[in-house]
Amino acid sequence: MALPLQQSQACWFIFQNDSLLLLMKNNALLNDMESASIAPYFLRQFKLGCFDHVDYYCAELGSETPISDTLHALPLRQALSLFINDGYGLAVKAWSIINWDKNHQFCSRCGCVTVHQAKVFERRCMSCKLSFFPRISPSIIVLIKRDDHILMARSSHFPQGVYGLIAGFVDVGESIEDAVHREVKEEVGLQIKNLLYWGSQPWPFPDSLMLAFTADYASGDIIMDPNEIEDAGWYKHDNLPGLPSTAISIAMKLIDEFINEIMPSHPARLD
Ligand SMILES: [Zn+2]
Repeated sequence: MALPLQQSQACWFIFQNDSLLLLMKNNALLNDMESASIAPYFLRQFKLGCFDHVDYYCAELGSETPISDTLHALPLRQALSLFINDGYGLAVKAWSIINWDKNHQFCSRCGCVTVHQAKVFERRCMSCKLSFFPRISPSIIVLIKRDDHILMARSSHFPQGVYGLIAGFVDVGESIEDAVHREVKEEVGLQIKNLLYWGSQPWPFPDSLMLAFTADYASGDIIMDPNEIEDAGWYKHDNLPGLPSTAISIAMKLIDEFINEIMPSHPARLD
């Protein structure tokens, strides 16, 4: 399968009905020529930047506009998996910019029309001057170790049989590390120690920046929050339950590393 980022002067992330349009033959992004016939039907378009001598753009195509049979539309989650080794951040940015523009046409304070400011991703209210930028919501996810077991939990909205790691949004006024301790305490009633930052990943469902950690079990028995958690338990590395369905998630990377017993290099201790 060809990489979706192709070597041409311009590449277009074109979304239609929350799916990304790609060439049918090789899952590549469209170039200028390939997007020319549908460009008149773009509802919005932005330049994302120039990377490796290629200009990248994003656009939204009208929902009813027919597309050529040389193209296909992949749902975002499926499309992102094509970019996992190259261009993932750019694909998330493209999606985020389209949604920022679509969702902030009017001021949420006074209701007046907003206007896009030149050369920046900012929409500003014509009346009260309030600005709106692409939103990023910091979220945490943590792999909790207890000897050769990890804590896995499932929420009622997960697909049948699928378990994941403890995760949640950072509250306003809260530090990231406090958010980890709070989420673990709230969702499964445990105390953790040795919290280590592991890595991060933009996760556009809807607009998260996932901050991933590892930690060791410290104390407590599992007491589930029935509003959040349907089941939780300690699972040995060679006997894990159903895992998250998408290999691109940072949850899977954390779990993979645990399974492979690869320790993070030079982690920053935060607690
Ligand atoms: Zn306003």
